[in-house]
Amino acid sequence: MIRVVVQGVAGRMGSLMGRLVLQEDDMALVGATERPEHSAVGKDVGEVLGVGKVGIEVEEDIREAAREGDVVVAFTTPQATLEAAEVCGELGKAMVVGTTGFTDGQLEEFKRSVSRVPCVFSPNFSVGVNLLFKVAQEVVEVLKEGYDVEIIEAHHRFKKDAPSGTAKRLAEAVLRGLGRELRVVHGREGVVGERGEEIGIHAVRAGDIVGEHIVMFGGMGERLELVHRASSREAFARGAVRAIRFVVKAGPGLYDMWDVLGFR
Ligand code: NAP
Repeated sequence: MIRVVVQGVAGRMGSLMGRLVLQEDDMALVGATERPEHSAVGKDVGEVLGVGKVGIEVEEDIREAAREGDVVVAFTTPQATLEAAEVCGELGKAMVVGTTGFTDGQLEEFKRSVSRVPCVFSPNFSVGVNLLFKVAQEVVEVLKEGYDVEIIEAHHRFKKDAPSGTAKRLAEAVLRGLGRELRVVHGREGVVGERGEEIGIHAVRAGDIVGEHIVMFGGMGERLELVHRASSREAFARGAVRAIRFVVKAGPGLYDMWDVLGFR
């Protein structure tokens, strides 16, 4: 039985992770934390998750909660994740981390803290998106020259950054497949002239779109498109569940979803 501790269990991703872990036959939710002073602290985690009592209290101290587990899952804030990483490094606990938005300094500190434990760290745990990175690279390796690559991403109106991190990673995958550098153009306006040697990235923002990515390969007489659509956050949580199974068997080191999915 894999003993899982979820940090930030009342959050959007944390609560999904908590519910999924409770459903998995080979996993037990043995600990959960929330921000000090959060209304969930002291409550039964099952009640916080809306599934009825499970006999585990939401704690505010990640050190206490982590002692009980084999792996700590963090989809929280960079600061909270750094605290968890320090504790896991000290106690020798594995980690699955999906938190984004680290500064370069925080990222260095995070990597130092988890250097002696197994840790899967990924900005996108969706299996489909990680497969898209791989397939996009392979498509370019086959098509080689003569196809124009355009990446179109669409997200909800509340998203603060553009283009998405996933769109940037897709451009990197395309460049890796080509084996050479190309200019990346963000949108086009005015008399831009004929298309040059470039990759175009376009960001759509509308309504409640969870996340869509299209990689378009435009050739003479044909067009190939790879499309990924996320319809809920469950795709990220289900990928993180696969990462939990991977990380408890892995040796110390930093891994990502490509390792989990066996792409390396
Ligand atoms: P969220 O709903 O705000 O959840 C974060 C939770 O962590 C909140 O409940 C927050 O409490 C709690 N928290 C803050 N400080 C804490 C502390 N010291 N100890 C314990 N809990 C603490 O955010 P979300 O949408 O779930 O996203 C969380 C992170 O995951 C973000 O960085 C997001 O970008 C990332 N994310 C990654 C993926 C992926 O696939 N890698 C997918 C989705 C999201 P308060 O609300 O009270 O502060």
